[in-house]
Amino acid sequence: MNEARVVAAVDKQLFIGGKWVDATGGRTSEVIDPATGSVLCVVADASPEDGRAALDAAVAAQPAFAATPPRERADILMRAFELLHERVDDLALLMTLEMGKPLAESRGEIAYAAEFFRHFAGEAVRIDGGYQTAPAGGSRFLVARQPVGPCLLITPWNFPMAMGTRKLGPAIAAGCTSVIKPAPQTPLSILALMDILAHAGLPAGAVNCISTTEAGAVLEPMIRSGLARKLSFTGSTQVGRILLEQCAEKVLRTSMELGGNAPVLVFADADLDEAVEGVFAAKMRNMGEACTAANRIYVHSSVIEEFGRRLAERMAGLTVGRGTDAGVNVGPLIDDAALRKVQTLVADAVKRGATVLTGGEATGGAGYFYPPTVLTGVPRDAAMSSQEIFGPVAPLTPFETEDEAVAAANDTEFGLIAYVFTKDLRRSLRVAEALDTGMVGLNQGVVSNPAAPFGGVKASGLGREGGAIGIDEFLETKYIGIKMG
Ligand code: ADP
Repeated sequence: MNEARVVAAVDKQLFIGGKWVDATGGRTSEVIDPATGSVLCVVADASPEDGRAALDAAVAAQPAFAATPPRERADILMRAFELLHERVDDLALLMTLEMGKPLAESRGEIAYAAEFFRHFAGEAVRIDGGYQTAPAGGSRFLVARQPVGPCLLITPWNFPMAMGTRKLGPAIAAGCTSVIKPAPQTPLSILALMDILAHAGLPAGAVNCISTTEAGAVLEPMIRSGLARKLSFTGSTQVGRILLEQCAEKVLRTSMELGGNAPVLVFADADLDEAVEGVFAAKMRNMGEACTAANRIYVHSSVIEEFGRRLAERMAGLTVGRGTDAGVNVGPLIDDAALRKVQTLVADAVKRGATVLTGGEATGGAGYFYPPTVLTGVPRDAAMSSQEIFGPVAPLTPFETEDEAVAAANDTEFGLIAYVFTKDLRRSLRVAEALDTGMVGLNQGVVSNPAAPFGGVKASGLGREGGAIGIDEFLETKYIGIKMG
């Protein structure tokens, strides 16, 4: 069986200093298939001592890795890019088994993840500096870029591979060593990536991987040791705040990709077909389990009925099931807690007056499935207006004026992304400028691209991943003042 084979093929230990090792005391934790609720396999479960060993390996490897020629680091990334493509069938199946998303989406994620390596292979050889004459003459300014140093990388379960390569790509390109900690629900993709990086020629210790069910106990001493110089985190705002506090002690550099609560504004002049497709994509990518997922959909009152009818029709046509099965468009949610949260949010919205256009009832049985759901007339005080739904539920709320819509969109502590649908160019730019978000999707529902700067403002985070500035997060700037004779 293919499924058993791909799971068996992954090394399930910790990857430290280029070697696969057991966790202290042989501790392991279970990986669950969310489509069945049954155990897929067990992986090593790192202790604080294991975390420290991984960090020591990264620290020991840092000077030599920083000194590798940029072209060598670029070549490693390109070989890893090619291996990700060569192994895409097995990697996609592995991801679907541990995370639930349909195979087609897993394949898409592997290609997206690989693209970060290709993008940053290009950046590795373009790290530049500056040379300037002081304004008053005399001295010269030399500006150099150097790797920040050893990094801690913490990734979530929703994009098990891409959130890893989005951090590892620029870290490797910049010449930073690292310890990566995947989410305990989905460690297998990153473990498979360690094998790829080793085959691509990455030196021992340059990347180390520890999976653990005790993230707080393992990571806090690593952060507070000050041995790592940077933390890059993707996850909840709640955990991000804790980590920022821990990083403050030794003043670590931080990149924080935190929660979202993406608003969508569909204006009366929007191309409704385009808007339905865009909102559908913004909502249903990854079963709605994305920080970029459309969370509040404001539609002009003159088109909300037609828009709701078309979106509900589109959503109702989807097939829910095990991601490995042919023809399935919507897999299970990650776990029981995620399913219960979605159920509670929908019940709350309905209690406050929302109408269900499609879906709205979990199917029950094994696995954490929830049907694609469209709600209309969702009041602004519904819990789902202020919380991330992280599931396949599209809440529609009517608006009358542009000012009202923009104010509603900005009425949140989050500021990751907003989506705007309109054919009016001036309105597009006016609204895009007025939205308090790091990203705006204009007439499109998916903006993620390794060549573009991804990131949020307000409680959605600090820093950007991808794009030309993605590597800056892993570089320090050193100014050398030169006295001339
Ligand atoms: P989610 O709710 O999506 O699981 P979390 O923010 O809880 O988001 O988790 C994102 C990542 O952060 C995971 O890898 C998780 O193990 C890790 N994590 C959770 N709590 C901590 C913590 N106290 N310290 C370090 N990492 C943590």
